[in-house]
Amino acid sequence: MRKKIIIGNWKMNLDFESSNYLIQEIISKSENINVNIGIAPSFVLLDEAIKNTKYSKIKVFSQNLSEYKSGAYTGEVSASMLLSIGVENVIIGHSERRSIFNENHSILKNKVENALLHNMNVVFCFGEKLEDRKSNNYFKIISKQLKDSLFNLDVNLWNKIILAYEPVWAIGTGETATPEQAQEIHSFVRNLISENYSKTLSEKISILYGGSVKPNNAQSIFSQKDVDGGLIGGASLDSNHFIDIINSI
Ligand code: PEP
Repeated sequence: MRKKIIIGNWKMNLDFESSNYLIQEIISKSENINVNIGIAPSFVLLDEAIKNTKYSKIKVFSQNLSEYKSGAYTGEVSASMLLSIGVENVIIGHSERRSIFNENHSILKNKVENALLHNMNVVFCFGEKLEDRKSNNYFKIISKQLKDSLFNLDVNLWNKIILAYEPVWAIGTGETATPEQAQEIHSFVRNLISENYSKTLSEKISILYGGSVKPNNAQSIFSQKDVDGGLIGGASLDSNHFIDIINSI
């Protein structure tokens, strides 16, 4: 059975107080729920999030990490810094990092390798832009994103990887992929892994969907056979919405 997980990507939202409050709400409302749950607060909130979630089932994810190990890289945060405060999980390749901060395939490949070298768990995001979908070019784009940043990895490292399909046109737009569109890509990606590695590995990898998942559409997306959970942006900032989404899996 593949691991099912719902992760809240808080992006550049919340502050010290509101983050602590949201964490307490999520912990108390998820006590009797048997689903893997993650939250990804901003860098400055991670230390406190680790402390606040210590006795809960909530896993803390960083939204990013540096491609470099250490040194003169002003403003960057390294894998070893994250580990030193207990953060063992990281999101890499979010479309906002790709488009706003120009993170290309080679940067993302370095980030993944760096995280894995430090034994961190990686959620690797990929997904096509609206123009790629409209021009029917999306299978090619997605293959390239995965091949260029991940398919060089040794098969043994894949037990540290979770994938997240996030069509760019659906992130923060209110426009969700239909369950069929999500399933089509998730199954395509499983085939790609099978071709490049093995069928056994392709069946083990969790593939999350992200892009305007809300309480009213979560169930239809999560019911697809190759969708193993979600990466949730906006709706994860409201504990009731987030819990409703978790309960939909
Ligand atoms: C995200 O940021 O990963 C995301 C899916 O955002 P939203 O749910 O707001 O579309």
